[in-house]
Amino acid sequence: MTPVIRIIRLGGVNCYLVAAVDGFVLIDSGTPEKRKALDAELEDAGCRPGTLQLIVLTHGDYDHAGNAAYLRHKYDTKIAMHPLDAGRVERADWSWNLKPKPDKFEFLFRIVALFIRPGEFDTFQPDVILEDQQSLTDYGLEATVLHLPGHTKGSIGILTSDKALFCGDLMDSMGRPSLEFFIDDMTAATASLTKLRSLETDRIYPGHGKPFRLTHVTENR
Ligand SMILES: [Zn+2]
Repeated sequence: MTPVIRIIRLGGVNCYLVAAVDGFVLIDSGTPEKRKALDAELEDAGCRPGTLQLIVLTHGDYDHAGNAAYLRHKYDTKIAMHPLDAGRVERADWSWNLKPKPDKFEFLFRIVALFIRPGEFDTFQPDVILEDQQSLTDYGLEATVLHLPGHTKGSIGILTSDKALFCGDLMDSMGRPSLEFFIDDMTAATASLTKLRSLETDRIYPGHGKPFRLTHVTENR
């Protein structure tokens, strides 16, 4: 099954609406500030209460988890994520389970981050805890969860049966495709990249930037 994908771009953050059996799966949810735009996109795609099988979060950052609790309520659905990032969304603590100092934080983005502060966040507990190699077929999606630590410890990717990979923030393509501008643990990120290179992937859909292929990815820009 080829998932029909709608790329929902919300101010530099990507969410992906994927066709599932009897509805949709949403990968990531954007920031609360972009809620109206997200609502409009989901409505336009025909997403109605009862048709959203699952919200999968690639990791527990504010800009990816910001509408998860809101959508769970609106669509009467479930939120799935990896346990090693769960404490972040349960507490709205964006440094939870990160190193005191990240191994990499690109200069330009460090400057940008000085001017951006996360706003109000609806904390929540995930309903479904995802582990490496877990199948999502119970939610109507022929895909496997890959634990891809590096950006955060609980970062995951979703690899569909037709080899599309949603990589969260392990990699971005805001410049040349590479490991993301923020890497908590470089050793883990490099290992995640090696793991992906041992698998067959087609297009990669990142949390930030346009789709790319793994062969174009470098460890540093
Ligand atoms: Zn992000």
